[in-house]
Amino acid sequence: MILFDSHCHIDDKSYDKDLDEVLGRADREGVKALMVVGIDLETTQKAIAIARGRNHIITSTGIHPHDASHCSPGLLDELTGLARDNDCVRAWGETGLDFNRMYSPQKDQETCFSAQIGIAADLGLPLIFHERDSRGRFYEILKSEGNGNGVVHCFSGTKEELFNYLDLGYSIGITGILTIQKRGAELREMAPLIPEDRILIETDAPYLTPAPIKNKVRRNEPAFVKSVLLRLAEIRNTDPERLSEIIFENTQKLYGTDFTV
Ligand SMILES: [Zn+2]
Ligand SMILES: [Zn+2]
Repeated sequence: MILFDSHCHIDDKSYDKDLDEVLGRADREGVKALMVVGIDLETTQKAIAIARGRNHIITSTGIHPHDASHCSPGLLDELTGLARDNDCVRAWGETGLDFNRMYSPQKDQETCFSAQIGIAADLGLPLIFHERDSRGRFYEILKSEGNGNGVVHCFSGTKEELFNYLDLGYSIGITGILTIQKRGAELREMAPLIPEDRILIETDAPYLTPAPIKNKVRRNEPAFVKSVLLRLAEIRNTDPERLSEIIFENTQKLYGTDFTV
């Protein structure tokens, strides 16, 4: 089995003490590549530091919608510079809209999101989107400003939203929510509807630990992306080995990597 954790935050301080062990466990489970996602300046810098000397790790940079009120042209320039200067930076994001917790005002979120769509296009990078409860605004902005190059990470929308994103050309990121009994029920209904070449899998570690592991360990880690793959194969009634290869290649294509394993 060959796995690509397309979205994790192993820069989180909860890994400071045992990152090498975490990466070792991932490797033994078949996780041969991973994307460490930046959500602001500090996490971007830490992700780049983690990727240094570890060829199977790539990173992204961006400003999370929660942080949009701190978005400024100066900060965006700084992140753009990091993306240009570091070969490990292969995507832009997380960016998007989150009206669930509203840590930043809607207006700031939308301005910051639009600006980042433009920057990613200039840099030729795919986007990593975070969307929650945006009441259609996310789709409206994507439809008018996006270029179809990106992934809606941790997809948790409706069937209509799913088809809208697919129609615009985007890929869909599936997390361990798929494995969770109640919370994952809707996602399990939609998962078979996604074309095979548009699926990515992710942990979003340290968050969203899959079931039943979550009853034993609280912190998620890249090795656990295997449970997402296995559950997905089961739901789609397909061979896990084959599905893992397809998803690995989907992820390589999106992030422009060429890992040979
Ligand atoms: Zn997110
Ligand atoms: Zn994330």
